Amino acid sequence: MCICLNCKYINVCKQYFFIEKNHKEKNININAFFNPTYSIINITYFTKSNKLFIEWDMIECLSFKEKPANWISYY
Ligand code: SF4
Repeated sequence: MCICLNCKYINVCKQYFFIEKNHKEKNININAFFNPTYSIINITYFTKSNKLFIEWDMIECLSFKEKPANWISYY
């Protein structure tokens, strides 16, 4: 699971903007300005019903600041 969902900076973070873009989702904030430190994205490829899917998840980030379920307030 992407740790950004429980991060205080989800609405201003450029890396989360990048993940949303790759998931082809609507961006929370097109003017994201926050550059996180040492963030690591895990990319998983899998197939389902003969279709290829790609999952993008932030797994490590030194800038992470816990704010449980913060993403809910932006969707
Ligand atoms: S965990 Fe890191 S990359 Fe994800 S929203 Fe927070 S600061 Fe940004």
